[in-house]
Amino acid sequence: MLYREQNAQRALSPTSITIADYVINPFVGCDFNCVYCYARLNSTYLKKKEKLGEDFVESKPNFLALLEKEISEKRPRHVLLGSTTEVYQHIEERTTVTRSILDILNKNNTSYTILTKSHRIVRDLDLIGASPDNEVYFTVNTLDDAVRQALEPAASSIHERKVAISALHANKIRVIVHAGPYIPGITDPRALVYEFAAMCPLIEFESLNLKMADRTTLLEKLKEHYPHAYNEVQLLYKSKEAYGDTYRIAEQQVTDIAAKRGIESRFFIYPYDSYYTNQIQY
Ligand code: SF4
Repeated sequence: MLYREQNAQRALSPTSITIADYVINPFVGCDFNCVYCYARLNSTYLKKKEKLGEDFVESKPNFLALLEKEISEKRPRHVLLGSTTEVYQHIEERTTVTRSILDILNKNNTSYTILTKSHRIVRDLDLIGASPDNEVYFTVNTLDDAVRQALEPAASSIHERKVAISALHANKIRVIVHAGPYIPGITDPRALVYEFAAMCPLIEFESLNLKMADRTTLLEKLKEHYPHAYNEVQLLYKSKEAYGDTYRIAEQQVTDIAAKRGIESRFFIYPYDSYYTNQIQY
């Protein structure tokens, strides 16, 4: 993994995602190495990777200066952090750019949503807790750390995530567990709902995006470690009917389980034939 620096063109990028006016991504690339990652397959990333000859993470030395300037011009109401990168990946320990971004947003009364699967977020509880309009979508799609190690090798352990979610809740920060992608044969909706119901008002599931996930790597990993899941996922790739049936049944299961535990649930199912459009309706 190559770490490099490259100045950004802008800090606040307009978005069609309904919950935010702008997205903020202080890095390009991610060192968590999830096998299903969509972000490392976008065309900008792939072009650079081809030039550099390896996976990379780019930090942006001018990012905070740009943000200070743009925030006073654009006056965003609510922003989303981490739509195409992990804002609490390893490099954040050295750069602390995410913490500085939160500080700037707080000082400008701009609320935010953070997408993460990293326990490092607990460092910033003081800043995130400053506004009741701030919230965190925390990704957990399995409670089995052996699965996590196979599919998300450099990401936080399941134990670290549970501790972080609990800390967010204890600090009165709204936290939503995001079980995405929901991988048939791997993701256990009952276990997730029961684990987090006491701490999260909402649990959200998201189907596997068949166009965007790195199909070869994902299938290889599943074949090696979880043959039953390999068979199920392979079927999704082969059959539109299997995809529809699998996720409709899962959606109904989630709705029933969440209702029994008295929390809200959502299940976002990508249309089988469409490409990822970055328009998840949160
Ligand atoms: S944490 Fe997110 S951006 Fe990073 S590798 Fe995993 S899926 Fe991709």
